[in-house]
Amino acid sequence: MKFIMKNIILTKKLLFLVLIVISHLSYSEDDFSFDDRGASYNPMTYVQTIETGNGAYTIEFKNEEESYYTNFIVTSKGVVAFDPLSDSAAQEYSRIIKKYSPGKPLLAIIYSHLHTDHIAGARILRKNFGSDVPIIAHERTLKYFKHRNVPFIDLPTETVTDKGKIYKFGDRTVDLRYLGDAHTASILVPIFPELELVYVCDYASNDVVGWTDLPGIDIDEMMTMQRRTLELEVAMVTFCHGPPDTIEAVKRQLDYYESVLFESRKALEKGLTEDQAADLIDLPEYKHFRNYNDWFKENVRAMYRWADLKSRKR
Ligand SMILES: [Zn+2]
Repeated sequence: MKFIMKNIILTKKLLFLVLIVISHLSYSEDDFSFDDRGASYNPMTYVQTIETGNGAYTIEFKNEEESYYTNFIVTSKGVVAFDPLSDSAAQEYSRIIKKYSPGKPLLAIIYSHLHTDHIAGARILRKNFGSDVPIIAHERTLKYFKHRNVPFIDLPTETVTDKGKIYKFGDRTVDLRYLGDAHTASILVPIFPELELVYVCDYASNDVVGWTDLPGIDIDEMMTMQRRTLELEVAMVTFCHGPPDTIEAVKRQLDYYESVLFESRKALEKGLTEDQAADLIDLPEYKHFRNYNDWFKENVRAMYRWADLKSRKR
């Protein structure tokens, strides 16, 4: 069963890539003018809305595989919406914004990073709130989509460099920081100083192990980003996967990755093989983390290879 689950998950990622390719081959640009293409590969259902501060809300959705969260803030001038997720999610997202902030305009949409499963629904938000709503993202997000021309992604209209940028929307500040290159080198980390809140997407989550064998991730850089997040002057964190929590949740993620790396390096230094390390290492104190049974051993393998790579470079 576990084997099947892993394969389904891997297959989903492949299928997603295939769908992008097919969408390029099979449809003209016009076919994407209104449709639910974003949702055709990532349909999401609404779960709940959670208040994370005065005028700040996190919305939980789920697809067949996992939970997704996104955020919006209500300011004195209107609403700022983060990751619009997918088309089906964005339709519900619009409804919820209108419920919590009736009659107010949407001032901006902000993309956390370039992964389409978090940002595909912007067309729907703009259909419901105005086609001229600005989209803010890291400059490399714009560069990425300019090259690829993914028809269901609305391009950012304003970009932010690695230096970050502070925006004022009515009575609220949105401080967009760039904390490091792990995970696509395009992650903007929004801080809401008045709310002592930060939005962390995909480089840390809430009590969960890493995805499979951490493919393509610079593990040191990921932990550096987590450490930098802990230095921010915030009390609360919202994630794009996992419920909002106190900032301690980021500390628990960092502790987890440090522990797996420590144990894997110890195994390597003892002369154990990767298979033996995966077999022997167990961290029962993290058994309550989501996906532990499915992916912990693969996390160990990733950390073992990382430790091996680093020891060869020395
Ligand atoms: Zn991502």
